Amino acid sequence: MKSLIPILSLVALFSIFGCLGRSAVPYTKEFSSIQLQKPVSGLKLEVFQTGRMVIDGWAVYSGGEGKISMDQPAYLISHPNYGLVAFEAGHHSEIATNPSEHLGWIHRVGLMPMEQDPGQDFRNQLKAVGKNPDSIRDILVSHFHPEHVGAVEEFPKSRIVADRREVSHGNKSPNYNYVKSEYDHVLNWYQIDFTQSNSFGSFEGFYDLVGDGSILILSTPGHTPGHISVLINLESGPILLTGDMAWTEHNIRSASIGLPFVSSDGEAARISLGQLLAFQSINPNILIVPGHDLNPLRRKSRKDIHLHPWAEIPKK
Ligand SMILES: [Zn+2]
Repeated sequence: MKSLIPILSLVALFSIFGCLGRSAVPYTKEFSSIQLQKPVSGLKLEVFQTGRMVIDGWAVYSGGEGKISMDQPAYLISHPNYGLVAFEAGHHSEIATNPSEHLGWIHRVGLMPMEQDPGQDFRNQLKAVGKNPDSIRDILVSHFHPEHVGAVEEFPKSRIVADRREVSHGNKSPNYNYVKSEYDHVLNWYQIDFTQSNSFGSFEGFYDLVGDGSILILSTPGHTPGHISVLINLESGPILLTGDMAWTEHNIRSASIGLPFVSSDGEAARISLGQLLAFQSINPNILIVPGHDLNPLRRKSRKDIHLHPWAEIPKK
């Protein structure tokens, strides 16, 4: 416990100064005129919960109190022509039994404890509901923190899709929350270069994965240098999976980011959150699902979205 005291003091110091700079930066530019296309019939989304993390409210958003339970989701998109695409790989399957190999120091010392039950990893859950994990064509990864990228090497047949800047940062300068060994054996990358991209709504870059407007990858840097979010244009209405641009609904309601030092670039993270709020203001019907908060999906059921409660997944 003694060794934790300097770390906790550091975090407290960061949080005091952090309060000064957590608000979203209002978006003041023009919106792009690019519109969503007609939805593709038969597009479906399934949601899996690969673990949980309980964290102090003050660390999550400005004014936060008490403890907040954070979801650790991974998503499976079924496209009628393109096939299966995942967003986030979730934790490595060993974090329940061997956390020190698979978590950054901030989690290992217990500041943000992450938990996963045996068998709760994404690959195992896919098999348990009758899906073939090896048939996933692409896995899109929001960023390289371990609860998002940890399991990528457990999907050796899939192409791993990420922002080029994230791959470069992850390989070059892993910090407190990058575990290079989680992704340094990936053979099949697709690295998106957003520098030549058009903007979409308030977001500065986008990449149309399939080419039919059904799965749009949005550039949302700040939490990490190459952070991405994903917009899925379902028939029941578009859904925006923010990744860690917004951890929870509290970040959206309070227009504030988590502790700035948790982001690689706090200012860029505040700008991206401002872009999200602006996008929401011109698309009031879009369903926004934060990176660690599935409550919007628990409240609203839709014919083309299925949330698998971990408690109901068949256990072996
Ligand atoms: Zn995260």
